[in-house]
Amino acid sequence: MRTRPLIGISACLMGDPVRHNGGHTRDKWIVDSLAKYVDFYPVCPEVMMGFGTPRDEINLLRVKKGEIKLINKKTKEDYTELAESTYREMNKSIEKLSLDGFIFMRKSPSCGLSDVKVEILGEENKVTRSTGLFAEFIKSNYPSIAKIDNGRLKNENLRELFLTQVFAHFNFKKLEMSIASLQNFHKEYKYVVMEYRHVVVSELGRIASSKKDLSINEVFDLYEELFFETISNATTKATKINALQHITGYLKKSLSSDDKENISDLMGDYKSGHLDFSVPENLIHFLLKKNSVEYFKSQKYFNRYPYQLKKMA
Ligand code: SF4
Repeated sequence: MRTRPLIGISACLMGDPVRHNGGHTRDKWIVDSLAKYVDFYPVCPEVMMGFGTPRDEINLLRVKKGEIKLINKKTKEDYTELAESTYREMNKSIEKLSLDGFIFMRKSPSCGLSDVKVEILGEENKVTRSTGLFAEFIKSNYPSIAKIDNGRLKNENLRELFLTQVFAHFNFKKLEMSIASLQNFHKEYKYVVMEYRHVVVSELGRIASSKKDLSINEVFDLYEELFFETISNATTKATKINALQHITGYLKKSLSSDDKENISDLMGDYKSGHLDFSVPENLIHFLLKKNSVEYFKSQKYFNRYPYQLKKMA
């Protein structure tokens, strides 16, 4: 059984010399920091298509009815069918792995997750933007796993969303197929879910309590779908403050009214943009530990992924 999450990744980001020009795009943070906590499955779809390195550059071209083709930039040879059959072949290995996420090389015609340049047939000076062909294949075959590109990974909020999903996916897959283990997972992730959508906490709780006449597989499927759909959305300042206020409730007997007022001021400063969320968040985490609030020792809220990955050193 795996002991760490497994992330699919564009091989050039790992430093493999697979780019069309024989180079790579090694990402220091991925290779030096993230790699300490997860395992990777590197793939280069263009090399898998049988092209050597170096090779001719590939482009996306929009043809009739919005259809997008993968073509040789110089010769205009159409590689779309070759690409699609190669992806299907690659998928025979990928689907056995049960990946927890995927990191793509930004703007690549094969791997770009969005904003990839697309030429338009018959309109020489116009371009549009789309998703790379391989990234599109992964998106449609694995809709529920977390996906990001190396550009977005540099944004702290987007990185947090990605890592939260990856580690939650890994933890979910480790669960025994029993109601008790699902309820325990629900308890651990309660305040993480609250940070995304408060109302979903009780909805997930109802599913995990399995009052309906469902098989254990159906209960897990229902829970998984709603849980991962919820945590794939962005959080807002309001939802973050709401979850933290609920957590602060566990300290109500330990804090003076001055302390409570100071914490409320910090949350207000975060809301108005004067402070990072980490200021009230770290203070409350410290107070929970100082006051030995047992319930929070098993909570994922402050521990949803290794804290060393919070900042890009
Ligand atoms: S972006 Fe994708 S296709 Fe291009 S070199 Fe990197 S892994 Fe290969």
